[in-house]
Amino acid sequence: MLLLRSSRPIARRRAAHISKYPDAQVISLGIGDTTEPIPEVITSAMAMRAHSLSTVEGYSGYGAEQGDKKLRAAIASTYYKDLAIDETDIFVSDGAKCDISRLQVLFGSEVKMAVQDPSYPAYVDSSVIVGQTSLFQKDIEKYGNIEYMRCVPENGFFPDLSTISHVDIIFFCSPNNPTGSATTRDQLIHLVQFAQDNGSIVVFDSAYSLYISDDSPRSIYEIPGAKEVAIETSSFSKFAGFTGVRLGWTVVPKELLFSDGFPVAKDFNRIVCTCFNGASNIAQAGGLACLSPEGLKAMVETIKFYKENTKIIVDTFKSLGFDVYGGRNAPYVWVHFPGEAGLDVVTTPGSGFGPAGEGFVRVSAFGHRANIMEAAKRIKQLYK
Ligand SMILES: *Cc1c(COP(=O)(O)O)cnc(C)c1O
Repeated sequence: MLLLRSSRPIARRRAAHISKYPDAQVISLGIGDTTEPIPEVITSAMAMRAHSLSTVEGYSGYGAEQGDKKLRAAIASTYYKDLAIDETDIFVSDGAKCDISRLQVLFGSEVKMAVQDPSYPAYVDSSVIVGQTSLFQKDIEKYGNIEYMRCVPENGFFPDLSTISHVDIIFFCSPNNPTGSATTRDQLIHLVQFAQDNGSIVVFDSAYSLYISDDSPRSIYEIPGAKEVAIETSSFSKFAGFTGVRLGWTVVPKELLFSDGFPVAKDFNRIVCTCFNGASNIAQAGGLACLSPEGLKAMVETIKFYKENTKIIVDTFKSLGFDVYGGRNAPYVWVHFPGEAGLDVVTTPGSGFGPAGEGFVRVSAFGHRANIMEAAKRIKQLYK
């Protein structure tokens, strides 16, 4: 029997609603996918690279598995400036989700993991695929190799680490999908300290770091000592609308060592060279354009647009008296919603992200402005 669940709550709800109301215009605020066009300065660089592949001078076949040297250097100088992350610590990839799976291959099935609860489903699901545990709570209790770290309004969405037993790997996402909360500097210092004390590796997912509006750390390497305990994975998906283009990266610092002193990066390099032949050269040309001064400006503009959507959603739910979390540092709003969510506006049930998500819905700010406005109108009609 397969271990992974097959039920997809959003698709099921949407289908059920459409069959009941065939003329209904269903608006989805449930999807974690970008909707706005990629800025021209970025697509034109990809088009140029694609055309150059038709020329003798411009053609290239397999590239370095770790990525184009220029792109690795640009990622290091853009996102890790003054954090002493070397370009050779950066592994360019076809996306953070794919890297999460490759990291699971690296860690294997014998490790004990912890995840934020609720969290991005890929962490637990990919663990199950490599044979770590079951998704079912009773089996988790029985086998116990995935620890769910409860993140709820009562603890400011930061887990009580004193209740966590020894874990080898901690998946940690900030700003968090689905709760939209960003971890503060003090909290992150606490997490790094915990990893140091327990000999754990933190896999820090910073896929939403550019959405941060306050002074929350954008990278775990802003915390002293993090290079000895943390891997960071990130992506162009939510920064530049690259969910379909596919481009991301993972940082594995040379300072991160297994207990026998062997560098984790050397093993990760073996996995990357074995399971992956490098990111698309066209996508990498796009990535390089993203990190040019014009590209950075264009990315910031698109993110600003999604953040305006977020504000509309936050204001809508707040005006109706709901308890609303997140939104400030992420394109997700986490709404306490104990009853059944609205029928013509599809959101994502929080329980799909873990047991502590029960009673919440995740509302996504990815969407065209007209749809967001229409959704806000319907929500107001339904719950006023
Ligand atoms: C969207 C998302 C990613 C990005 O995955 P890609 O494979 O790069 O598209 C990574 N982590 C989280 C938490 C996400 O929501």
